[in-house]
Amino acid sequence: MRKISASYIFTGKEKLLKNGVLLLDDEGYVVEVQDTKGNLREIPMLEYYNGIICPGFINAHCHLELSYMRGMLQKTENTVGFIKQMLQKRGSLNGNIIEEIARADKEMQLNGIVACGDICNTEDSFITKAKSRISYYNFIEVLGLKDNEAKIKIEKAKQLAISAISSDAGPASIAPHASYSVSLSLYNEIKLIAECNNSIISFHNQESLEEDALFGNKKNELYKYLEIFGLNKNTFPKTNKSSFGSIAQYLPKKNNILFIHNVFTKKEDVELAQKLFPKHFWIFCPKSNLHISNCLPDINIFKDENRICLGTDSLASNNTLSILEEMKLLQANFPLLSIETLLQWGTLNGAKALQIAHIFGSFETGKKPGVNLIYNLDLQQLKFNRKTKVRIIASC
Ligand SMILES: [Zn+2]
Repeated sequence: MRKISASYIFTGKEKLLKNGVLLLDDEGYVVEVQDTKGNLREIPMLEYYNGIICPGFINAHCHLELSYMRGMLQKTENTVGFIKQMLQKRGSLNGNIIEEIARADKEMQLNGIVACGDICNTEDSFITKAKSRISYYNFIEVLGLKDNEAKIKIEKAKQLAISAISSDAGPASIAPHASYSVSLSLYNEIKLIAECNNSIISFHNQESLEEDALFGNKKNELYKYLEIFGLNKNTFPKTNKSSFGSIAQYLPKKNNILFIHNVFTKKEDVELAQKLFPKHFWIFCPKSNLHISNCLPDINIFKDENRICLGTDSLASNNTLSILEEMKLLQANFPLLSIETLLQWGTLNGAKALQIAHIFGSFETGKKPGVNLIYNLDLQQLKFNRKTKVRIIASC
């Protein structure tokens, strides 16, 4: 049995417990969390830490297979600029793709990440995932604007999902890429499969300002760029609504659905999601957003704090794979966000989104969520600073 205490314990939700005590059995399962109300008495064999003890972090959005693009792509002002660079440089690697994936996986482990929702377009990450201590959920991504290609795309995605599962890379489901990159027939195929399997869906949502204009009559830079891939005036109905408002009807309604980025999401979109998707989650990847569009989501319009999770996105648009670094950036930009709120976004909410909250995300009896120590922070004001770090106290 391990008895662990610290300046504060964060259990996964609600207020920090001052000098709380966490009891773990020899295998790392939570036995009990004790609220000492700040009065810690002498306990034999107690481990005591300065800082905040919290459950292992959940990275709700990553693309591990793009890890070889670390540092390759310049900061841009919009998504089109970023995608252009991405397609130019994709494949232009000096090193080894598999080695870079393994290095990124290790980096996430060291940063206290215990589970990850990961986008897959290839099999490249499966070997690493099968051996990793991180629990991965694989979102097999499909995209394609030509209606007559929908069946082929789905067949390929099914094969990739089977390969993920049979390689022991973790569970897998088929997910659409983004509002602007999927034809209506492909959306329909994806929806049918998702409803049939009750699978988790991920969807890149309103990452760029240009997305909304595609559903009006404007031929903007993104439109012109997508014409190369088969976009034409009949690809999407012209709704004059936001991209989210236009596409929501084609997405499955009863599944856990993860909306990724939401940089240009408006209040009406949040209300629509509330109405249409009982099990939706908003995933923020703020460091990546600053790299790609130099903007951050309007955090204040997302009222339900139980639905917000954090992701790192890939090393193509981020220089770290660390949930703590994402929290630090959010706290610096939104000083009113409490540390408890940020920690809940980085732990319990992500576990719920990935349907693994029975094991991960919170200190509750019988769970094995891993234990992180966040240290070098201002414990008076409960604020992170540039020197704040995380280390693992118990792995899962
Ligand atoms: Zn992404």
